[in-house]
Amino acid sequence: MPGTELFGAEERKEVNDVMETGMLFRYGHDAQRNGHWKAKDFEAEVRKITGAKFAHAMSSGSTAIATALAASGIGAGDEVIVTPFTFIASVEAVLFIGAIPVFAEIDETLCLSAEGIEKAITPKTTGVCLVHMCGGNAEMDSIMAVIKKHNLILVEDAGQAFASSYKGTYTGLFGKAGSYSFDFFKIATAGEGGVLVTNDEETYKKADVYSDHGHNHVGEKRGMENHPFLGFNYRISELHAAVAVAQTRKVPGIKEKNRKNKKFMQDILSKNSKISFSKLGDESGDSATFLNILLPDTETAQRAVDEMNAAGVVGFDYWFKNMYHFINQWDHLKNLSTVSKLPAELFERSQDYNKLNLPKTQAVIGRLISFGVKYKWTESDMKTLADKISACVDKAVKPVNA
Ligand SMILES: *Cc1c(COP(=O)(O)O)cnc(C)c1O
Repeated sequence: MPGTELFGAEERKEVNDVMETGMLFRYGHDAQRNGHWKAKDFEAEVRKITGAKFAHAMSSGSTAIATALAASGIGAGDEVIVTPFTFIASVEAVLFIGAIPVFAEIDETLCLSAEGIEKAITPKTTGVCLVHMCGGNAEMDSIMAVIKKHNLILVEDAGQAFASSYKGTYTGLFGKAGSYSFDFFKIATAGEGGVLVTNDEETYKKADVYSDHGHNHVGEKRGMENHPFLGFNYRISELHAAVAVAQTRKVPGIKEKNRKNKKFMQDILSKNSKISFSKLGDESGDSATFLNILLPDTETAQRAVDEMNAAGVVGFDYWFKNMYHFINQWDHLKNLSTVSKLPAELFERSQDYNKLNLPKTQAVIGRLISFGVKYKWTESDMKTLADKISACVDKAVKPVNA
């Protein structure tokens, strides 16, 4: 959690600007705000890092991905190809805008593969919700070829991949719209917050309206603004945006340090022949928030997890057993357990979520153990940790029967 590791005077200063005026609302009230526009400043910082033409700050990464889908024209009854390995928000977003998730296979990038997407296409497929997992980036050239060939709408959930890029283009900017999360666990945090990015002005305008009850934000009087579309309240507050401004300014430095620390760890770990690493679409664009090790098979990985727990190693995730990030534990999704009926329940679905067959995904996630890269790791911290990991992996590898 590098952002939270660096919480300090800069965040307090930005928050104090808001506290001194009491202007917690992001729109209007020009006379009272003493020139402070934290949501706008936050958006400008995000545009500066990513090169996005448009950035719209919102209440969370979840509301940003839902808005990205809706503003891209995806809605009730549309099939959207999704990944079985993600924070479940991406799948919930598809369901809650009325669309139907269809699961496809990932590869060793930990993201949907072009092949996986193509195999999951049906006549009802409208779009793809691509998630760039663990701070990395998907194999975009081959994915974009499939998107174009089948004329699909691409929306990217880059909730975990702010500041990650592929061949010079930042995640979130390959399709119609993309989203970043600034919750407590990401590279930078607002406390709670998210940002939608797009290079398409029309999509940006729709998102702006949709995320604020249809207000088009033209003119001086809020009550007299036009309401071109229905929307809802997905606004960010100035307090959250203030924290995010200070945090976002730290991201280039965080990324540089993350990348150094990750490389230091990988250089040690790669001496162990049983340890390999997840792939990246573009290694040079990695935001390096996670060090993702792949072991030879699921059984070895599970034994390595047991060994690491016994040895007191902390700061890792074994997603295969994690309640929120992998489909094997999503019983509520498989059974569509909801507090009230969703549109997806009214449409014919081309997949039975209880009978999904995703062998490639199962094999990759079974082998995967991810460590959160820490900004404040010292070289001696890293050496100790890497040596421990390596020793645990050695113990977990079954001795070859003579
Ligand atoms: C964190 C995350 C989200 C949700 O973001 P919130 O800000 O917590 O709503 C969505 N998608 C992915 C991939 C995430 O990791």
